[in-house]
Amino acid sequence: MIMRRLRSTPVPGTRDSYTGIDFNLGFHIRRYELDLTYRVAPNLLMGTATLHMDNYRALDALTLDLGGSLRVEKVTAKGTAGTHIQVARFRHAGRKLRITFRNQIPVDQEFSLTIRYRGNPRPLRSEWGMIGWEELDNGALVAAQPNGAPSWFPCDDTPDEKALFDVHFHTDNGYAAIITGDLISKHVSGSMTTWHYQSREPMATYLAAVHVGEYDTVSLGVSESGVVVEAYVPVGDAALRARILEDFAKQVDMLDAYEKLFGPYPFRSYRVVITEDELEIPLEAQGLSSFGANHATGEGTWERLIAHELSHQWFGNSLGLAQWNDIWLNEGFACYAEWLWFEAAGVKSAAESALEFYRGLEALPKDILLANPGAKDMFDDRVYKRGALTVHALRELLGDDAFFKAVRSYVAEGRHGLVEPRDLKRHLYAVSTDHAALDAVWQSWLRDLELPEFPSGGLD
Ligand SMILES: [Zn+2]
Repeated sequence: MIMRRLRSTPVPGTRDSYTGIDFNLGFHIRRYELDLTYRVAPNLLMGTATLHMDNYRALDALTLDLGGSLRVEKVTAKGTAGTHIQVARFRHAGRKLRITFRNQIPVDQEFSLTIRYRGNPRPLRSEWGMIGWEELDNGALVAAQPNGAPSWFPCDDTPDEKALFDVHFHTDNGYAAIITGDLISKHVSGSMTTWHYQSREPMATYLAAVHVGEYDTVSLGVSESGVVVEAYVPVGDAALRARILEDFAKQVDMLDAYEKLFGPYPFRSYRVVITEDELEIPLEAQGLSSFGANHATGEGTWERLIAHELSHQWFGNSLGLAQWNDIWLNEGFACYAEWLWFEAAGVKSAAESALEFYRGLEALPKDILLANPGAKDMFDDRVYKRGALTVHALRELLGDDAFFKAVRSYVAEGRHGLVEPRDLKRHLYAVSTDHAALDAVWQSWLRDLELPEFPSGGLD
């Protein structure tokens, strides 16, 4: 296999300046094979993770990310094509699992590591609160953005290292295990049910999600292009179910609208899970989004967020980030997609939404640099709104035909890969007749602190 970094810029330094976590350097994980058993009542997770990888540096040792509440019992290595690779020892401390090999692994080998572990998974403390595996009253969920994945499996937890996933998940009968990927099979054996999921498109670790709970599956319809859209609703709460059906009724229309604007939906299905617990915010995972019972009011209160999470399937999930400082590429586009949905639905134009939120931004401190907001402000609402206004400014400058043509080619080229702002800019340049004007918009919205004038009166 030819080794190639997916990103165009080199890794900056040895530590992620946003998460504060040291990078795991020297290798790529191409596929995660997880075989996990989860007992709901004691919140006990146990099993093995087999990581299929290759190395772009000679390795005497390597590190992985793994939360401290999981105990590693055994690590073994296996080479391919006649390579003999043996683990000398491992050490798990400070959320890092360090594995040392008996002999140096020469560069460019393919091998696998199998890590057996168990424990009571807990969310990880972070700059953004507790994230990752969370035990619920009757089940569990994973909300891992940006770096909570090590709360449930050993991984290389950085957004630019996408991989394939194959998950066998055994849990108590009566519970649904809803996991990112396509459901391949489900079978009952004794008191346990095994759920087998495969992610056939590469996925960033933070987008891997699990829901364990008592859920019914409800069809929300099929898109014009044939994408199946389903909701998982808590069993036994008829009122909540009715509110969910009401509020998510337009989910397929949203998908149709976005396919027209951005290009084909990037995954095989789209699923939404609505937990019986309240969640502070909904969250996107790959091909899946999670909402709390509080997000289904039956009155369409959170329609914008239902649209927002769907749009992340294009912006954030298919088109992944190379580094967290580019978070506006995810959230700016997702927020703008809310406005585009309301425009497509005939509620109000994106320009009206833009003006409303521009007025809001005017009243707030202008101390966030959109191109690099810093860890603390990464999920600040101003990043979302200014990001969306940046997208709107580019649309106003270029006009609809050129703008959406550029967006579609940017989305198509970056599909299932990584993108950086320079990629977007390249596609905008290709449809632009005035590069200086484009540079000026780019500079003022992304790289200056002050709020530029409201964007209007472009070519259209
Ligand atoms: Zn978002």
